[in-house]
Amino acid sequence: MTDDTPVCDEKHNLKDMHKQPRTHMPERDAQQRATDWDEVPAGYTVEMAQREALRCLQCKKPLCVAGCPVGIDIPAFIKLIAEDNFVGAARKIKETNSLPAVCGRVCPQEDQCEKVCIVAKKFTSVAIGNLERFAADAERERGEIKIPEKQPSTGRKVAIVGSGPAGLSAAGELVKMGHEVVIFEALHKPGGVLLYGIPEFRLPKAIVNSEIEYLKKLGVKIEVDSVIGKVETVDELLNNGFDAVFVAVGAGLPMFMGIPGENLCGVYSANEYLTRANLMKAYDPDYATPLLKKKRIAVVGGGNVAMDAARTSLRILGTEEVYIVYRRSRDEMPARIEETKHGEEEGLKFMLLTNPVKVLGDDKGWVKALECIRMELGEPDDSGRRRPVPIKDSEFVLDVDCVIMALGTSPNPLVPMTTPGIQVTPKGTIVVDNETCQTDKEGVFAGGDIVTGAATVILAMGAGKTAAQAIDQYVRAKKSA
Ligand SMILES: Cc1cc2nc3c(=O)[nH]c(=O)nc-3n(C[C@H](O)[C@H](O)[C@H](O)COP(=O)(O)OP(=O)(O)OC[C@H]3O[C@@H](n4cnc5c(N)ncnc54)[C@H](O)[C@@H]3O)c2cc1C
Ligand code: SF4
Repeated sequence: MTDDTPVCDEKHNLKDMHKQPRTHMPERDAQQRATDWDEVPAGYTVEMAQREALRCLQCKKPLCVAGCPVGIDIPAFIKLIAEDNFVGAARKIKETNSLPAVCGRVCPQEDQCEKVCIVAKKFTSVAIGNLERFAADAERERGEIKIPEKQPSTGRKVAIVGSGPAGLSAAGELVKMGHEVVIFEALHKPGGVLLYGIPEFRLPKAIVNSEIEYLKKLGVKIEVDSVIGKVETVDELLNNGFDAVFVAVGAGLPMFMGIPGENLCGVYSANEYLTRANLMKAYDPDYATPLLKKKRIAVVGGGNVAMDAARTSLRILGTEEVYIVYRRSRDEMPARIEETKHGEEEGLKFMLLTNPVKVLGDDKGWVKALECIRMELGEPDDSGRRRPVPIKDSEFVLDVDCVIMALGTSPNPLVPMTTPGIQVTPKGTIVVDNETCQTDKEGVFAGGDIVTGAATVILAMGAGKTAAQAIDQYVRAKKSA
């Protein structure tokens, strides 16, 4: 942010601003950014943010708020931006969303608040996500992050298993309520998918780390390298002084296609590939983490995870071509339009209506090609999308030396398997009461992807908040019993 000058002294008299085109957020040049790890969108200047804020009609019945899974008071924070009170805007968002700098970057606003924005009925919606990011960045960059008051200590202890958005948001709420909170994280760094899944060029790790430092300052303790279900079970946590446990272990178990050759060297799950690159710095020649240089990479899948894996592999030194291999057409691709656009600008090649049938290996057991078949679209399936149907005798061989499977993930099974008394669905998700996140087991709550299956950051955070309210009531009642 460079310019602190308000966009207009008479801003509240400005009419018809909503009819103006939505303020575009500048992006770094595609050729340049495809070779580095810096963030792609550059953020709004003060002038851009205020121009965009003035497009908001300050609706009496703001549909955007109903469209936000955590109910942020959107018109109120936008008004504060228009009034030059950027830090106030960030604090307004934080009343209901503890990770605004993250959500402003990764939330699918086009399917949530922005989709139902009144302005979108005739014009383009107010850029709510961009404004959320602007406010959160302004607060951080000005060093004005405020540590809120905590309630007096209750003497109650809560264990949180998993440090993704569900665990972090529950921790933030519970510590403010006066409880002692310890997060147990299996990996050596906290943050969950925010850290090991979503790449640096979409969500800079400094932002995730600053959110975690904020929680630590509030008093949250984080024990890394602690795989619950191995070092200790949930029952042991309950027997060793914790009054309640919140299970937020996510859905990181990769899925594969079950085709021949999937166990050849050079076939990765997207999760493994991204974890090596993001968390273990495999892209940096100064680190010894093994992520071998490959020239031609096929990423199988059409979702956001596929885009992240493909755009990451494009940035690894030595990569020449990266293909997205997807069995339906572009219209059915589940990835955000913005991610597909960014990937295409950076040089990804899209092989649509194409499905792999076999991974071919060389005599040393390494991938040398991917055999694929062409597809066409048939009748809609249960998801409402047109079913891909193979075209007879259309097989062909794609010359690649690495294959990344990005077909989705399922719930992490270790905690459900080692916690007798909690109910699990056939898909492996934990069954909870949606109003409270309470499982069938006394004192054990669960939320985020482990309950919903792979979903979104904001839904996981919403679950963390719901669970915190219920845990607070539970441990306080336990104290007075
Ligand atoms: C590559 C990728 C990109 C994505 N992009 C987006 C996006 O742009 N926007 C969006 O809204 N959503 C996105 N998502 C989805 C989103 O990140 C998840 O829905 C969200 O992170 C779920 O939060 P969570 O807290 O439930 O679980 P997670 O973030 O998965 O965190 C779970 C944590 O629990 C830890 N854990 C697991 N087992 C144990 C154990 N036994 N003991 C201790 N700790 C354990 C894990 O190591 C992890 O840190 C993306 C997901 C991926 C994989
Ligand atoms: S619906 Fe759109 S115009 Fe109305 S308050 Fe929300 S962001 Fe502003």
